[in-house]
Amino acid sequence: MTTLPVRNPRTGETDAWITPPTMAELDEIAARLRAAQPAWAAESIEARMERLKRWADAIEADQYAIAKALEADTGRRRVAMLEVQGAIASIRGWAVSAPQLAPKADWMQGRSNAQLKHTGQYVPYPVVGVISPWNFPLTLSLIDAIPALAAGCAVIVKPSEVTPRFVEPLMRTIDQAGLSDLLVFTPGGGETGQAIIERSDLVCFTGSVPTGKKVAASAAANLIPAFLELGGKDPLIITESADLDLAVTAALRGSVLSTGQACQSIERIYVPASLHDAFLEKLVPAAEAVRLNWPDIEAGEIGPLIFAKQADIIAGQIEDARAKGATVHTGGTVETHGGGKWLKPTVISGVDHSMTVMTEETFGPVLPVMAYDGIEEAVRLANDTLYGLSAAVFAGTLEEAESVARQLDAGAVSLNDAALTALFYEAEKQSFKASGLGPSRMGAAGLTRFFRRKALIANTGAPLGLEAFREEG
Ligand code: NAD
Repeated sequence: MTTLPVRNPRTGETDAWITPPTMAELDEIAARLRAAQPAWAAESIEARMERLKRWADAIEADQYAIAKALEADTGRRRVAMLEVQGAIASIRGWAVSAPQLAPKADWMQGRSNAQLKHTGQYVPYPVVGVISPWNFPLTLSLIDAIPALAAGCAVIVKPSEVTPRFVEPLMRTIDQAGLSDLLVFTPGGGETGQAIIERSDLVCFTGSVPTGKKVAASAAANLIPAFLELGGKDPLIITESADLDLAVTAALRGSVLSTGQACQSIERIYVPASLHDAFLEKLVPAAEAVRLNWPDIEAGEIGPLIFAKQADIIAGQIEDARAKGATVHTGGTVETHGGGKWLKPTVISGVDHSMTVMTEETFGPVLPVMAYDGIEEAVRLANDTLYGLSAAVFAGTLEEAESVARQLDAGAVSLNDAALTALFYEAEKQSFKASGLGPSRMGAAGLTRFFRRKALIANTGAPLGLEAFREEG
């Protein structure tokens, strides 16, 4: 395998390299995981969680080294540290909840035949493959891996080739916790991702829709399930009764946090025509006040665009909107500082659904604002999308927000806020339309989806003979 260069998002320079494993090395890794997994699954869930808690302690002890590497991966400091702390909290949280949520079954008397009774055994998938994206490299590598390990699976993770630096310090903690035969990170790009699918019993994929389709096709060819968490084009509907100051706060954070490089970012804002100008009057100065964390990484609210090609996609969408008559109020130009690519929050009005900025995933700090007449039109526009990841409604009352939310085709809706799925992991949700496939990674299903239910059916009497089915009866 050839060595792949890794670009630093703050400098634009190549300052790291990864060498993907060969297919023979991947075979060896998969065999090692398969050999260790049965003993892991045979332990009680409480015992597994004790081992995982030791891992959380090891991550905590090394948190600054991991955060430093993540900072180089993503160009942001605060969010890097929050990712590490979130990983520790996630393991400790599952340590409490997984033993309670793990499915159990009692023997049950048959309804149709009282002589038969049945129970269930919950059997973890042996090897789970995890393929993750670059926007939250640690969080999205562990969000499936932790509950899969808790369920008794072994896990092989392929993080994005765009942001692989955090892996080395993290692997040290995996070694320290004695988990290196159960959890392996392998560097590499799409080819390695494909090879992992071929060696897994279930694949959890987080990434774009086009790659998700390839992953689903490979999973189908291998007859394994694929849990897909894909892109979004999340709408925010603001209603006539909304408090505009609060709506601006939610819209701005929901849209520009982490430079908009989040699947659940708000990417379209619909406001009543009567409030359109007043909303813009508040939103534009709030957007202008957002600072880049350049040149000082310890100041400002947003970091660089991590993936250089994404900067071109975003710039293309803004140009398309401009060319079709939209007005860019602030931001609007990808800037180069110190070799990195940056975009200040970009507020655009005069948009419609002929523009790519309203139909295709932007994955940047862009806030296109469109006026609507009547809530029916707002709902129709919000639902006029290939995606269905999440959405948001801001209204004067929760009751009104809820009544609008219930009409939206999306897997999660934030009421009187935005992008709450980034902050709250307890509510089960599934992706609608092209935004994904499979059970919820949030809530209890986050754990239970890693078990297959085996039925044990017992006959308490004598077995039926073939004569019971004889034709002459
Ligand atoms: P991507 O689809 O380009 O890559 C994701 C991962 O897939 C990477 O690790 C990549 O190496 C791997 N990959 C590429 N080709 C592959 C192939 N043929 N087979 C197997 N694996 C392959 O996505 P990205 O650009 O890294 O991430 C951004 C996307 O992720 C956005 O669309 C965003 O919305 C989405 N995302 C979704 C969620 C969610 O929970 N729904 C969360 C974060 C990001």
